[in-house]
Amino acid sequence: MIGLISATAAGAAARDRLAAAWPDRARVYDGPVGDAVRRAFAECEQLVCFLATGAVVRLVAPLLSDKASDAGVVCVDEAGRFAVPLVGGHAGGANELARAVGELLGAVPVVTTATDAVGIPGLDTLGLPVEGDVAGVTRALLDGEPVALDAEVAWPLPPVPFAERGAHTVRVTDRAVEAADREVLLRPPSLVVGVGASRGAPVAEVLDVIEGALRDAGLSPRSIAELATVEAKADEPGIVEAAVRLGVPLVTYSAEELAAVEVPNPSAAPLAAVGTPSVAEAAALVRGGKLLVPKRKSAGVPATATCAVVRRPGRGRLAVVGLGPGARDLLTPRAKAELRRASVLVGLDQYVDQIRDLLRPGTRVLESGLGAEEERARTAVAEARRGHAVALIGSGDAGVYAMASPALAEASDDIDVVGVPGVTAALAAAAILGAPLGHDHVSISLSDLHTPWEVIERRVRAAAEADLVVTFYNPRSRGRDWQLPKALALLAGHREPTTPVGVVRNASRPDGTARVTTLALLDPATVDMMTVVTVGNTATRDIAGRMVTPRGYRWQEEPK
Ligand code: SAH
Repeated sequence: MIGLISATAAGAAARDRLAAAWPDRARVYDGPVGDAVRRAFAECEQLVCFLATGAVVRLVAPLLSDKASDAGVVCVDEAGRFAVPLVGGHAGGANELARAVGELLGAVPVVTTATDAVGIPGLDTLGLPVEGDVAGVTRALLDGEPVALDAEVAWPLPPVPFAERGAHTVRVTDRAVEAADREVLLRPPSLVVGVGASRGAPVAEVLDVIEGALRDAGLSPRSIAELATVEAKADEPGIVEAAVRLGVPLVTYSAEELAAVEVPNPSAAPLAAVGTPSVAEAAALVRGGKLLVPKRKSAGVPATATCAVVRRPGRGRLAVVGLGPGARDLLTPRAKAELRRASVLVGLDQYVDQIRDLLRPGTRVLESGLGAEEERARTAVAEARRGHAVALIGSGDAGVYAMASPALAEASDDIDVVGVPGVTAALAAAAILGAPLGHDHVSISLSDLHTPWEVIERRVRAAAEADLVVTFYNPRSRGRDWQLPKALALLAGHREPTTPVGVVRNASRPDGTARVTTLALLDPATVDMMTVVTVGNTATRDIAGRMVTPRGYRWQEEPK
């Protein structure tokens, strides 16, 4: 039972919302608050107090005896903005309670216990149907007790700090098993049920054949990802309604697509009716997977429905995530979310350091040093192919002179790929310099490690002739010092010596520097690998120390 205690009108209103939401779980304690808290603490496993934390500390302190048996206590402030688990965060379930209260009242749970603060996810928040001892196994995770993962079906999960062995287990399975003691079952959407039906087949018969097939094969209906059939049956009421009742989408394929699928039990009847020798088996198998239940017919005479069940392999997920130029607040929220969603992180060690504090416990970090690009790309793709949720990180934008292309060159269509854009160095630098990219611009890497210098030179010449603003990446390193002067000389052939040039080193980082100089005055020795160099076009001006490239003569002349 959850005891609810309040002192003010606002508190009572919020209290009543909880009481209404939890009619069988919560009880209101009226009267003087001191009394109410003492009674509730004695009678309930948990308390929600609409009182200041200070007041509750004083009231509860004399009542505390043992972490294992004390009630969990949550305080909610007068405005209902925060839910603070005060004592019994884990054993008393106060952290969970604060989250539940937060959901109901729109309050932020203010959790201060270590494991929660570092973000171990609740097992019921992983996005999969869940059964069994969720509270017990989650608590074991939070308390740092070993919890083993038993993944019968590989499925991309967010990171959870699983142990090799443990008294508690999380089992990822699509089988119709019951959860054992201290076990949680996660139901991956791994089953595709192909269905066929004659016109007017009753929904009961369609459901019957599906449920019978799953039952006989020992499979859980909670793992059905979708029903699949032929386009001609997209509106067949019995099939449509069966999908609705099972709570899964209905997907359809053309007869040609299905006819091309090899199946064990083709037959003449569907070929005549809809143009494919198999509907149920072909629709279940069309996206690949293993046939667990070959075509079977419903029990009606004559039978009006067929079904077949396929287990499709878990599709791994590769997120290619740009971390931005360095400053934490230039890391996008989406990038942050992807980092926390991945169970495997692949990246250059110095980039991993940049975001290590954001990772959830249990994240497997595969870091490597400079130069191992190909290997990183291969590793990331291989991990995703194994069914994991992988984040491959890069600074700035991960697609700009970075990991996205080598990774996607390796990847096949058996994994899902998600790109998260990042603020690339050219943009981070431009924002510092002023508005150098106000008209057409180009980025050119001066690294001739993987690109022949002739190619680079041809591109610089073209940019010079086309009067494009140019940002040089990888402008100069210890072993590569003649390329930048050479490139600047090519641009100088088409631009005045007074053309503004911006030099930005470590953009957005604490030790960042930036200056605006000119083509004639730039000293290449001041440029290194942490720098980008942006050269203006013939219209770019230095205005009050800022680089400004006009939008264009015509645009400025246009009447409003
Ligand atoms: N993917 C990165 C670029 C990688 S190439 C991005 O989108 O920004 C590496 C080059 O990027 C460096 O040699 C340097 O020229 C530039 N660079 C990366 N981060 C930078 C920063 N914070 N400030 C200035 N230049 C940076």
